[in-house]
Amino acid sequence: MLSRPRSTTARSTIAGTARGFVTLLLAAAVAISGSVGAFAQNVPIVRDAEIEALVRDYARPIFKAAGLANDGIDIVLVNDPSFNAFVTGRRMFINTGALMTAETPNEIIGVMAHEAGHIAGGHQQKLRDQLERAKTMAIIATLLGAGAIVAGATTNSRGLAGAGMGVAAGGGEMAQRSILAYQRTEETTADRSAITYLNATGQSGMGMLKTFSRFQSALSLSGTQVDPYRISHPMPQERIANLETLVKQSPYVNKLDPPALQQRHDMMRIKIAVYMQGQAAASRLMRKNPGSLASRYGDAQIAYLYGNLNAALAKTAALIKEQPKNPYFQELRGDILMKANKPKDAADAYAKAVSLDPAKSGLLPVSLGQALMAIGTPESLKKAAAQISNGLGRDKENAAGYRYLAQAYGELGEIPAADLATAEGHFYSGDYRNAKIFAMRAQQKMKRGEPGWLRAQDIINYAPSGKTK
Ligand SMILES: [Zn+2]
Repeated sequence: MLSRPRSTTARSTIAGTARGFVTLLLAAAVAISGSVGAFAQNVPIVRDAEIEALVRDYARPIFKAAGLANDGIDIVLVNDPSFNAFVTGRRMFINTGALMTAETPNEIIGVMAHEAGHIAGGHQQKLRDQLERAKTMAIIATLLGAGAIVAGATTNSRGLAGAGMGVAAGGGEMAQRSILAYQRTEETTADRSAITYLNATGQSGMGMLKTFSRFQSALSLSGTQVDPYRISHPMPQERIANLETLVKQSPYVNKLDPPALQQRHDMMRIKIAVYMQGQAAASRLMRKNPGSLASRYGDAQIAYLYGNLNAALAKTAALIKEQPKNPYFQELRGDILMKANKPKDAADAYAKAVSLDPAKSGLLPVSLGQALMAIGTPESLKKAAAQISNGLGRDKENAAGYRYLAQAYGELGEIPAADLATAEGHFYSGDYRNAKIFAMRAQQKMKRGEPGWLRAQDIINYAPSGKTK
């Protein structure tokens, strides 16, 4: 589940009690060009195996129908209450605000279908290519407004900096927060494509219509929150009317989401509420459907975060009894046991979560590794390093994971491996300067040409945005 803020420039400010649900407050050294290294911005990214798997399950059939089948789509959850979602190609960025707004899977799936329509239509391809090359952190920084600062600070505009500049030139302060802005004609094309994909996958367009109608209505203008999505996707009345016609022509117009998917969606929303918005917001959501599995899941999470660990364990045990194959209930059990200072039992729970996880998330082995580290025997430390490496193999950009890996190697006395792991962590956070320092330190104690040495050399040779520094 969601956990742990961290910072890359101010090293390891580990705050927050929640483990699984990982909130990474990343000081992204926005590595667009050498000259902007001084700009650091706290960037909130949410890492969570359950939510990432669900969002990927939403995207997969749509992307396949759009001919974009790409199993390796990275889901990047941005902790921002506004509505935004876009795809660069390999990565899908989606705000927690979008997930919280959507009452059904179909509403999010509709937006994904529309985004797939933009990709298939080749809209903003050049910008998308630039985004694809950029590091995740740099894109997030741009998303949340830092891009405009960065663009202003650089003399040459290329890559993301150029993108930030272009967006900034297109409109006011709000527009800076919307990376991909489309023409009205492109919206019509994307809507038509979206309906094609939804029909091909036997899904209704009503969710998309509901979402876009909400953006279009005067109501959304009166709110204090400005949704970047609405700014980047023009929604004149006429477009909504045309879309409505298309949606209602579909044979699947009244098709509802499968109940199991709706249940996962409800669990996700309550989880986001519990971890990101607090107990009151979660309780409000849970009251709408008291006694449901999602509400009881929220209840167990609230007990874990704010209440009594024994109660949390009992509530989680009841959930596990109901869905013994749910990896995220095991993960919650592991989180609770870690907080209760029972790393052995926690490791057992995480090991179950890893083995049950059909999505093969890289996050769960890292949690397992942390529990094994906490056990602290030489044997468990070795297993910890292996598990964390396994997790990082599945999920290279999990910068926090490298810190745990470095710690495990450090405790094992394997200092060059620890230095290389630290170098990787800095590298994937975009802090190339420290990455190189640690890569060089690692190389000094490694045999020339061995795999670790070669990887260190890659880091040393890496030049962001084609610049050498
Ligand atoms: Zn659009």
